[in-house]
Amino acid sequence: MARSYDVVVIGAGPAGYVAAIRCAQLGLRTACVDKWINKQGKSALGGTCLNVGCIPSKDLLQASEYYHRLKHQFQAYGIHAKEASIDVPTMIAHKDRIVQGLTDGVATLFRANSIDHIHGHGRLLDSKRVEISDISTGEAKEVVETKHVILASGSVPAQMGEAPLDHERIVDSTGALEFQEVPQRLGIIGAGIIGLEMGSVWCRLGSQVVLLEALDEFLPSVDQQLSKEALRQFKKQGLDIRLGARVVSSRKTKKQVTLNYQDSGGEHELAVDRLIVAVGRRPNTEGLFTPESGVALDERGFIDVDEHCRTNAPGVYAIGDVVRGPMLAHKGSEEGIAVAELIAGSAAHVNYETIPWVIYTEPEIAWVGKTEQALKATVEPYKVGVFPFAANGRARAMEAGVGMVKIIAHAESDRLLGAHIVGPMASELIAEAVVAMEYAASAEDLARTVHAHPTLSEAVHEAALAVDKRAVHRAN
Ligand code: FAD
Ligand code: AMP
Repeated sequence: MARSYDVVVIGAGPAGYVAAIRCAQLGLRTACVDKWINKQGKSALGGTCLNVGCIPSKDLLQASEYYHRLKHQFQAYGIHAKEASIDVPTMIAHKDRIVQGLTDGVATLFRANSIDHIHGHGRLLDSKRVEISDISTGEAKEVVETKHVILASGSVPAQMGEAPLDHERIVDSTGALEFQEVPQRLGIIGAGIIGLEMGSVWCRLGSQVVLLEALDEFLPSVDQQLSKEALRQFKKQGLDIRLGARVVSSRKTKKQVTLNYQDSGGEHELAVDRLIVAVGRRPNTEGLFTPESGVALDERGFIDVDEHCRTNAPGVYAIGDVVRGPMLAHKGSEEGIAVAELIAGSAAHVNYETIPWVIYTEPEIAWVGKTEQALKATVEPYKVGVFPFAANGRARAMEAGVGMVKIIAHAESDRLLGAHIVGPMASELIAEAVVAMEYAASAEDLARTVHAHPTLSEAVHEAALAVDKRAVHRAN
């Protein structure tokens, strides 16, 4: 007899595994099908995020930041180390240990919640049946029955014909986490979040990094005042960011990769030792459902869902990177929780207006809500408060007094419309603004909240005060 469940989740990334845990917490008999194989050839939970995304990239960013500070910043405090050096294989091994610990942790959580982890490729046959096949032979092994299905198959790196991967000299973001030595000349196609994070890692370790970005504008979804400041800082660090540069072809020899790109000045050539292709990610729907299942894709290839993540097929939901919205781990996890609660009969929804974005460069960039350029394009009246980290004592003591906090509020109601931070620990500081916006707070609410001294969060406080021109530690 076929195994039968209340819920079968396909995909164990941060969308799918969180959905599975919440379903199990709500008393639903749950299975999670996942096909990930790690570099040791073993099945691993956690999807892109834990295996080759959020976590390993942050580990390498941390390692490279420590190295860079030891080499270039600690002297300001009178700290001198004889000779700083970086052992890249040890750094990569550290990253692998952290990844292993966390992916094993998800397996432990599955056991603790009595979730069946089924290793294999899952395919939705119809709303009530999922076929599982062997990932090496492709042979169907089992069909499980279920009342509900959650599709959480994530995304994969977009590839470009102009620079096909060879997984050695020309790699995607996964390959960029595995270099065993610091490339002397590193090219990156795409100056988006992933390109900038990977570029920062290898630049700090000594690579000459050139990023080629097709768009004329740097980080168009970031508030322009902040993206300008970030670009200035990145250039100071030695990241060579070339905007309006569209790669048209590449040639590979044993020793290097030669890229041809076009910008307003004509066609140019660039030779690099390694190339990272970071031109975005695409939804992963390969072999995920049969035409008879009734699941449909939208015009961009994402699974078509409504505001509650319901697909066209009854009882079938889709969440995470495989559906519309930002490709961020926490967005997928929140959708997973909401869908689990809907299946269990509760009311649930995700507030897409307050999803924080973070770029883990130095300085970090984090934001939530509307940018000033987006507001300018509407009739909504707004006011702005800005406070620079150069005037924040804690940031100065950390040798991190660059960047700013910018708070945008409605000109009449004072309700917070957006918060934008470029500077130290922006990834952590943004949480305060997210909570405030979730509670529909005003700039005055933030301004009247006591913030500990001396902390970086005082810059958020001062920016909220600056909205009404009453910042204390800068002239208004
Ligand atoms: P995934 O994490 O892609 O997981 C999908 C899972 O489903 C995979 O395990 C896959 O093998 C499995 N699967 C797919 N199809 C099938 C099938 N048919 N049968 C069985 N299993 C299947 N986001 C952040 O929020 N913060 C960050 O700092 C961040 N950094 C990133 C850095 C890098 C280098 C990259 C590449 C991404 C980063 N992201 C970050 C994005 C983040 O990783 C994704 O948004 C997130 O992983 C999406 O989660 P998901 O569960 O939708 O899909
Ligand atoms: P993201 O979407 O944040 O992952 O960023 C991917 C970036 O790659 C975007 O900013 C794209 O504009 C950029 N990009 C896409 N194709 C090309 C190309 N052929 N040459 C240079 N940049 C590109």
